[in-house]
Amino acid sequence: MLNIHPVPAFRDNYIWVIHNQDHAAVVDPGIASPVIDYLQSEKLQLCAILITHHHSDHTGGIAELTQSFNVPVYGPGNESIAGITHPLRENDSVRLEEIAVNLSVIDIPGHTRGHIAYYGSTPFAMVFCGDTLFSCGCGRIFEGHAAQMYQSLQKLCRLPDDTRIYCTHEYTLGNIRFARTADPENRKLIELEIAVEQLRQHNIPTLPTLLSLEKAVNPFLRCDQPALINSAQQHVAAPLPDPSRVFSVLREWKNNF
Ligand code: ZN
Ligand code: FE
Repeated sequence: MLNIHPVPAFRDNYIWVIHNQDHAAVVDPGIASPVIDYLQSEKLQLCAILITHHHSDHTGGIAELTQSFNVPVYGPGNESIAGITHPLRENDSVRLEEIAVNLSVIDIPGHTRGHIAYYGSTPFAMVFCGDTLFSCGCGRIFEGHAAQMYQSLQKLCRLPDDTRIYCTHEYTLGNIRFARTADPENRKLIELEIAVEQLRQHNIPTLPTLLSLEKAVNPFLRCDQPALINSAQQHVAAPLPDPSRVFSVLREWKNNF
C-alpha cells in the first residue's frame, strides 16, 4: 500500500516521503537527518529524490542523502541545483519502479523561474507542487512575474478535482486569515477555518489538501469570482479588467498583510 508521509522540518516545512513497505522516494529534502530517521524507523530503502525548485529549504539535504544512498536525483532542468542527476523538462515522466508510482512533470514558474510539479494518477491523483500552491494560498513571486504565477496556478487547476495536493509548507492557518479578509462571505472558508484551528491545536498537518476544496476556498484560484474581484478592486480603488490583474493585486495585498 502506498503511504505519503509528511516529515516535519525547520519551522514549517514538510518533506513528503512516498513509500510502500520497502522503498521510499522523498520530495524536497531541505535537511537529511529527519528523513534518515524516518527511513530507519520504518525500515525503508530510499529509491529516489525529487526536487521542485532550488531554494535551500527544499534542496539542503541532497548531499548528505546521496552520500548514504546511491539514488537518482530528479529536479528542474531550468535551475542549477547541485546533485541533480536527472534534469527534467515539462511532460517528462519519472518512473519510480520500486514504489510503482509514475509521475509527470508540469512547469509551474513564478515562485522561481524553473519551478516544477510532479503529478501522478495512480493509486490516486496526487501533485507535489513545492512552493507554488498552498492550502488557501500560493507562493511568493520571487523570480517570475504575477501573470506567469497565475498561469501556473491555472495549470494546476486543470488537474482532476480529486487531486491530493502535497504542498511543502504548513501555512494554512495564516493563509486563511488573509482569505477571510479578501473573501469574507465564503461559508466554506469559515468552516475550514474552524476545522484547521482544531487540527493545528493538536499539531496535526492540514495537508494534503484537495483541489476541489482549494477551488472553493483559495482566493488565488478564485480571481474570476465576483467576491474576489470586488475586494481586489476596492483594495486598489481601481477597476481590474481580468483575473490575472485580480491575482496580482491579491498577491501584493497579501505580501503586506
Ligand atoms: Zn521556495
Ligand atoms: Fe520553501
